[in-house]
Amino acid sequence: MRITYKLGLSYLFAIAALFALVNIWGRDICRNKAQQNVKNQMQTMVSKLSDTTVSNYYEGAGLITKLRDELTHMEAVTGIRIWMVNTDYSVIADSGIGLNDSDITAADYDTRILEQNISENVIISKVFDEPMLVSSEPFVFNYKVSGYVCAFTPMSRMNQEASGYIEMLNIGMLIIFAVLLVIFLSIYYYTVVPIKNIKNAASEYAKGNYDYEMKINSRDEYKELSDTISYMVSELKSNEEKQRKFIANISHDFRSPLTSIKGYAEALKDGTIPYENKDKYLDIIGFESERLHKLTSSLLQLSSIDSGGLSLDIKSFDITKVIRTIADAFEGTCRNKKITLKLQFDEPKIYVDADQARIEQVIYNLTDNAIKFSNKDSEIIMGVAVKGVKAVVRVKDFGIGIPKESINRVFERFYKSDPSRGKDKKGTGLGLSIAKEIITAHDEEIRVISNEGAGTEFSFTLPIS
Ligand code: ATP
Ligand code: MG
Repeated sequence: MRITYKLGLSYLFAIAALFALVNIWGRDICRNKAQQNVKNQMQTMVSKLSDTTVSNYYEGAGLITKLRDELTHMEAVTGIRIWMVNTDYSVIADSGIGLNDSDITAADYDTRILEQNISENVIISKVFDEPMLVSSEPFVFNYKVSGYVCAFTPMSRMNQEASGYIEMLNIGMLIIFAVLLVIFLSIYYYTVVPIKNIKNAASEYAKGNYDYEMKINSRDEYKELSDTISYMVSELKSNEEKQRKFIANISHDFRSPLTSIKGYAEALKDGTIPYENKDKYLDIIGFESERLHKLTSSLLQLSSIDSGGLSLDIKSFDITKVIRTIADAFEGTCRNKKITLKLQFDEPKIYVDADQARIEQVIYNLTDNAIKFSNKDSEIIMGVAVKGVKAVVRVKDFGIGIPKESINRVFERFYKSDPSRGKDKKGTGLGLSIAKEIITAHDEEIRVISNEGAGTEFSFTLPIS
């Protein structure tokens, strides 16, 4: 169920519960309270009257008229009818108008009401046309009961009073409903709205619209969630970017050799290229094929590394022997360029624990670069130093060097510091990234120091056996 519905239902439930509570107990409590108020008012009135006023006036018949006026006045103010009743139960003074006092005798009403402080639903059909609430109190004159004071008010007055209370209760209830509504709306605003925004953003991102901006203004867990999602999206975006660049690079690197292979092959076939010149063009075709071969094997290697497939076969071997072999392999190339390879080892044999074939490849890539970016008639130093538990392998040249702005990027895939320099037409820009992956897989480090125009030194560490 949607959170909005859940909140709505909770609100309805809360007001229904409150409504039921008020109706089941609240109204009764209010009614009782209102009735009690009316009763108290009447009781206070009769007891005051019996205590003072009536005693004062009860001395002579002449004064009864004055008392009656007083009572009439009191009824006008309070709406409560007052009787003064004699010991023979006949009414001697009545605040009401329209009846003579002496008209009402014991025969007209149930005289038991005089003995009770409060009587409810009293019917005196000769005087009142509705049930009455009565409060009575005897009064004492010359140490004996000389009569009673009775106060009457319609039972309906109590209900009216109660309605007043209940009305207040209802208004209170409405206010609580409104406050609850505000609370529920703010819960909605602070919880459902951000979730909706996050959900909308997520579906935009799923569609590939990574530039969609998530609108979360709060500083709470929703903000953290949206920040995490934004971070994830930026990673996705950069991955996608990398992949696009990667594919663009590969396509480019494949297309140019393929174009020349295809072109020369066709030209050879249809005779555009004279037969005597065939060797030159077959050489080019061979060169380009080799480039493609190298590119494919580098890519395969990187792809196996990416899929977590770089499993190392760690064994102890003599690293100086590996370097000697590689130096021998490059002898021909070096002779052509008049480059001298110098070997410098701290000790004649240095055993390390590593994957020999992979390390061979790293050293091969570094030496290949060193020769490629060296000028004619220069020197390359290949060495191994022992530093504590580590062997430091280095390949140092005195070639063209790497520009400062490129130095941090040489280990990136397909990165070539200056593709237009033309020093390295065959290069794919993958050699160093593969070397770095291999060294990192050994939990070791590879570093570069270079000065443009002066030379470059690559070095990496390996654990000594
Ligand atoms: P590949 O190794 O696949 O044949 P590459 O040599 O161009 O291609 P990397 O070995 O990854 O690629 O080297 C990346 C770039 O770093 C090179 O293109 C070059 O610009 C720079 N670089 C690497 N080694 C040296 C060096 N010894 N001297 C100067 N520049 C270098
Ligand atoms: Mg290289």
